[in-house]
Amino acid sequence: MSKRDYYEVLGVAKNATADEIKKAYRKKAIEFHPDKNPGNKAAEEKFKEAAEAYEILSDTAKRQRYDQFGHAGVGGAGEGAQWSGNMDDIFSHFGDIFGGHFGSAFRHFAQGFAEQQGYGGQHQHKTRGSDLRVKVRLSLKEIATGVDKKLKVQKLVTCSHCGGLGAKDANSIKTCPTCKGRGIVTQFQRTILGSMQMQSYCTDCGGTGKVITNRCTFCNGQGLVRGEEVVQVHIPAGVENNMQLEMHGKGNAARNGGINGDLLILVEEEPHNELIRDGNDLIYNLLLDVPTAVLGGTVEIPTVDGKVKVKIDKGTQPSKILRLRNKGLPNVNSYGTGDLLVNIGIYIPENLSSEERKTFEQFQSSPNFKPSQNCSRNFFDRFKKMFE
Ligand SMILES: [Zn+2]
Ligand SMILES: [Zn+2]
Repeated sequence: MSKRDYYEVLGVAKNATADEIKKAYRKKAIEFHPDKNPGNKAAEEKFKEAAEAYEILSDTAKRQRYDQFGHAGVGGAGEGAQWSGNMDDIFSHFGDIFGGHFGSAFRHFAQGFAEQQGYGGQHQHKTRGSDLRVKVRLSLKEIATGVDKKLKVQKLVTCSHCGGLGAKDANSIKTCPTCKGRGIVTQFQRTILGSMQMQSYCTDCGGTGKVITNRCTFCNGQGLVRGEEVVQVHIPAGVENNMQLEMHGKGNAARNGGINGDLLILVEEEPHNELIRDGNDLIYNLLLDVPTAVLGGTVEIPTVDGKVKVKIDKGTQPSKILRLRNKGLPNVNSYGTGDLLVNIGIYIPENLSSEERKTFEQFQSSPNFKPSQNCSRNFFDRFKKMFE
């Protein structure tokens, strides 16, 4: 039995837009919906036929192959071949067509269909493109807020001349004689337990069920050519060095319209000039001058988004830590935000004018400049804590 033209099945013109195809499919799917036509085999067939047509025509690459090679370019080899689509694919369409509320009724129908057709893992072997790895360098500021990046990715893309099939034209695609287009070969093996049936993918056609007699000259039969894609990726706030984000289907294309590989995006953190990252917290080493440490004052502290003014108490001791709440980085799993820890040191001048020297000599005899025992203990306790 020859297959009907997909455009005819959906009742749309050859140059129909994606939207027209979607609308036409929606109409057919509602009309032949199995719940509406219980026990009606003809309606069920029509429903499946429409789903198959939509599966091909809603996918740009598949539609292009179909336009160029007809039924031989998609699914099985030539006339009468079984549609190789997975039933899950049908139902993945319903999400965008019906907004998901048809879900469970359809799913039951799908499982029944899948079992009846023997599609439990027996559909044709799909090739998968290889994964690609790229690095993305991010500043702390970008990490603090999250950022959208456009990445120019060099990759293998589907050959536009043959739509990824690697064939010169429709006449160059033949049913694989070894597996008769099934993509699978069955072997019987004698064992001590009796005869065992083994199934494996046909090596002559790589499981596609098709062999190519004349290669596409543009891609030398590979179905793939070197190309480039600009990929837009959203980096969530709070990512860390060496974290890896995955974008499914954005890696290298596969031959024969198989599944694209993934794009793996490795995060590389640009070191900040002044801030040090410690998990979700940030650390800033502040060196106070002696008068401000003694008298108190206001200092400017850098944060990921500009400077903030911070009050310094009089008599601030070295190694004191000020905690600026929520001025750190957000947790990548969105459980709160870290703090900015200001680690205080005190700068002791190395050179003094003779006047300054005299002033300090006066202080030398003042008991206020001598640390009490209590002060010393606090200082060494803090010091000890740093190494715990
Ligand atoms: Zn084969
Ligand atoms: Zn080609």
